[in-house]
Amino acid sequence: MLTTEKTKTNSSAARDGAPRKVPQQELAELIRRVVREQPVRDLHTHLYPPTFGTPFSGSARDRDASGLMLWGIDELLTYHYLVSEVYRVVTTRQLPYESFWRMTKREQADHIWKNLFLERSPISEACRGVLTTLERLGLDVESRDLDSYRRWFAEQDPSEHIDRVMQLGGVSRITMTNAVFDDNERRRWLDNARVGDDSRFAAVLRFDPLLRNWPSAAEQLAGWGYAVSDELNDKTVEQARQFVRDWIDRMRAIYCAVSLPPDWRYEGGDDQRLSSVVLRKIVLPVLAERDMPFAMMIGSKLRVNPGLRDGGDMVGLADVASVARLCADFPANRFLCTMLARENQHELAVAARKFGNLMIFGCWWFVNNPSLIDEITRMRVELLGTSFIPQHSDARVLDQLIYKWDHSRELIARVLVDKYGDIAASGWQPSEQEIRRDVQLLMHGNFENFLGAGAK
Ligand SMILES: [Zn+2]
Repeated sequence: MLTTEKTKTNSSAARDGAPRKVPQQELAELIRRVVREQPVRDLHTHLYPPTFGTPFSGSARDRDASGLMLWGIDELLTYHYLVSEVYRVVTTRQLPYESFWRMTKREQADHIWKNLFLERSPISEACRGVLTTLERLGLDVESRDLDSYRRWFAEQDPSEHIDRVMQLGGVSRITMTNAVFDDNERRRWLDNARVGDDSRFAAVLRFDPLLRNWPSAAEQLAGWGYAVSDELNDKTVEQARQFVRDWIDRMRAIYCAVSLPPDWRYEGGDDQRLSSVVLRKIVLPVLAERDMPFAMMIGSKLRVNPGLRDGGDMVGLADVASVARLCADFPANRFLCTMLARENQHELAVAARKFGNLMIFGCWWFVNNPSLIDEITRMRVELLGTSFIPQHSDARVLDQLIYKWDHSRELIARVLVDKYGDIAASGWQPSEQEIRRDVQLLMHGNFENFLGAGAK
């Protein structure tokens, strides 16, 4: 994937020193190869290095339930996308949610394998992802032998496995999501100052409760020694800012992030007043001072079916106007934004044309399907050229990096083949060097450049 293998089309500059123009018939193959070879800096995942604990240790019952690094076949099969899908074909009368959650991870994986892979064909995108991953790891997909996959994973060393997966996925660096209001995770940062030292991973400070439920967040901050009250007076604002600064420093975070519900509005009604005040007075000033972007993932309606746990969230239409307003009102801040609803994608791409401090990214969760990635990426190129970030993996299980990037690269390349083909038809023949430059921006540079001084 990451070899710099030279072929006859590669960097053979014309005799006069000008970059060699690529004949149209070679263009498609060249673009596919460039996209395959370009390492990606994955902007948003839920992955962790082994220092955060490795639950998988070969035997389903021998696990540290609180470990955060998820990897291996049982984690792949029990990904919440697949938990939702298995309840399409098994009724809660046959298997009540509580019974499913009481099963061991291995029993859950057996159940999903039987119902989604053996008793019907695994043609959904999430199922197909498991197959791509196994195949790229060199396992025999045709055998359908789950136990042989388990044996293989049990023999791997977690840290070496990270290297292998990053190499196969063509990922140069993984961005974590570090939830400071999660007790399990916060404790790990406090107990071990070096927990985040793995250079393959960068940290992101995630603090949803600050914006989603200020009274409860304030109570927690007070418990952690910050002199804050419900009321957002000057003292509380300064103490809450200090909390954000302290955790940016502790984690060496490269940006800060929240996930917001579809009905979230900036300066919305009374019930949303606190959220906007916290954003305006606490979060954005600290990020401007640190020259650091603020990422907003908007559109997930939490737990419409709580029985499914992580799989129980729903999509809803979000408000692009709120994002545009933030970009206009806070020119000293930079915003990374993705939305969950397909219906929001066009308006969000148009908003990005209006504001240089808005970087749109990724095809998130329910729009991370081939047909929609193709549609969304095509539209973004048409509206924004190369000035957006086409994809992030959102991987929760390490091995998913392989399929998420494999599938997305294929789709991104397909769009670029058409778009370079269109300009080539006018006589503007792109050179290999120009294509490499553009693909580098899409997969790596746009994100890195947008991070600013805060990430240095
Ligand atoms: Zn995520």
